[in-house]
Amino acid sequence: MTNRRKFIAQAILGGLGLSVGQQGKAASRWPISGLASEPAVISTWNNVAANRKAWKVLKKGGRALDAVEQGVRVAEANPEDMSVGYGGRPDRDGKVTLDACIMDEEGNCGSVCFLQDIKHPISVARLVMEKTPHVMLAGEGALQFALENGFERENLLTEDARKSWEEWKKESHYQPVINIENHDTIGMLAIGQDGNLSGACTTSGAAFKMHGRVGDSPIIGAGLYVDNEVGGAVATGLGEAVIKTAGSFLVVELMRQGMSPQAACEEAVRRITRKQKGYEDFQVAFLAINREGKAGAYSIHKGFMYALSRQGGHEVVDAGHFI
Ligand code: ASP
Repeated sequence: MTNRRKFIAQAILGGLGLSVGQQGKAASRWPISGLASEPAVISTWNNVAANRKAWKVLKKGGRALDAVEQGVRVAEANPEDMSVGYGGRPDRDGKVTLDACIMDEEGNCGSVCFLQDIKHPISVARLVMEKTPHVMLAGEGALQFALENGFERENLLTEDARKSWEEWKKESHYQPVINIENHDTIGMLAIGQDGNLSGACTTSGAAFKMHGRVGDSPIIGAGLYVDNEVGGAVATGLGEAVIKTAGSFLVVELMRQGMSPQAACEEAVRRITRKQKGYEDFQVAFLAINREGKAGAYSIHKGFMYALSRQGGHEVVDAGHFI
């Protein structure tokens, strides 16, 4: 209960751009909040650099769609981010396989999964949305499409990621590790100056997964969902658990029924804990924003946080947790 109370305080203050313990200092940084036309960016974990990039796009009056694409590309290009793009941990066979999806204010969406050798899967996903009659391309087909559209083939397995795979191979024991193994997968939601919403999600997926495994992150409704009339949601954590509950779609639908982003994220987490065995041993987190610009987040286990950017500043807010 203590954690829950603390989180509610954090969530309310977070909505104002404040953190617990910083109210006095931060109050003047966030003069306006909650207006539909106020731009905002939120993303999973503490990737402030990605938010900054997205914010630059919004500040110039750019589309939320461009903001989320540009924002998550920062994580995809960062070799230190070992759950996304270049530098992502490989699967059991030592292959880096990437999943990503993107969704705009009109409900258009594009996705790629099990894509190899391309550093920016989010941009390929966007092209799938804009240039094809399809929503999702997988594996070889996605690679072929990317190459045909000018993307370069690159080796994405860094020395650090290769070493962690070599280490893992000594025992070859696959078990989801809360908050460590999957840390840094990025899901981002943005509201532009015109009040329109878009979202993006990109990951190298669960570390040392089976070759061919696809998680929730490229699946519209699971890893990401946006409805411009309501809001958007993204998920991170054990993809299988998110897919089983159509997590991001669920959060958006709960908001449509009148729940706040915070209440909707909490209910989606509770749905998983009620229906899925073993939740004590895996992590799932949801992050949401409604079209008024109110944000919310909740996870099964402690340790989830999100980066929030609004007029005047960027900050990292701790999410509440079920256990
Ligand atoms: N949801 C991703 C997956 O299961 C991983 C993560 O978000 O941490 O592939």
